[in-house]
Amino acid sequence: MLVDSHCHLDFPELIENEAAVLALMADKGVTHALCVSVKLETLSGIIGLAERHANLFASVGVHPDNADCEEPDEARLLELAAHPKVVAIGETGLDYYWHKDAPEWQRARFRTHIRAARRCSKPLIIHTRDSAADTLRLMREEGAGEPGGVMHCFTETREVAEQALDLGFYISFSGIVSFKTAESLRDVARFVPADRLLVETDAPYLTPVPFRGKTNQPAYVRHVAEAVATARGESLEAIAEITTRNFFQLFKDAKPS
Ligand SMILES: [Zn+2]
Ligand SMILES: [Zn+2]
Repeated sequence: MLVDSHCHLDFPELIENEAAVLALMADKGVTHALCVSVKLETLSGIIGLAERHANLFASVGVHPDNADCEEPDEARLLELAAHPKVVAIGETGLDYYWHKDAPEWQRARFRTHIRAARRCSKPLIIHTRDSAADTLRLMREEGAGEPGGVMHCFTETREVAEQALDLGFYISFSGIVSFKTAESLRDVARFVPADRLLVETDAPYLTPVPFRGKTNQPAYVRHVAEAVATARGESLEAIAEITTRNFFQLFKDAKPS
């Protein structure tokens, strides 16, 4: 039993093959997946997936890369997060890789998401790229440790992981951990305590070895878990069990079906 803690099943390359994607998931023992929101304009696609399938959950949030889209305030996020299948707020955070000018609107939007998460007591899904210091600073300033959450698709250093862990956050690894060049990330995977570990695909992106070049999908989270298991010198079964338990511990509104 495995859970994909972060995917984008509503994106065209996956939703067009919805039945096949879900069938392969079931075939590979991936029992649940969290479909993560990137903007409000496409939220209905995610909610639809979660309504059609008992084993899919949804989040509500606007990705820091999306500049020209509906800007949510706290009230709007809270209203949308009241849906029974919405188990998290995000993805949110900062991304100075795609927005090298480190715009103020990203930080304002991130603060709004943290405040909403505190008010509805749902965990945060945090994206950070080339912005770790500001991400951690805002997490502290806004009290992100109160709702807690996950640093998704983690690619930062052990020091950054340590600070996120200190705030009570979970660390989620994607297919990047399986890449040949990712030795330092595998060091971080060794360091994260077992009870804070999650795995994800971030599908349709970041396809793990041995499927690089193909469209990623939740079934492949097995290969992410395998890479984490190998790095830690543990069995796939042990990593599958602990990351599944961690998922339902963190996303407490997600009921296993
Ligand atoms: Zn992300
Ligand atoms: Zn994502």
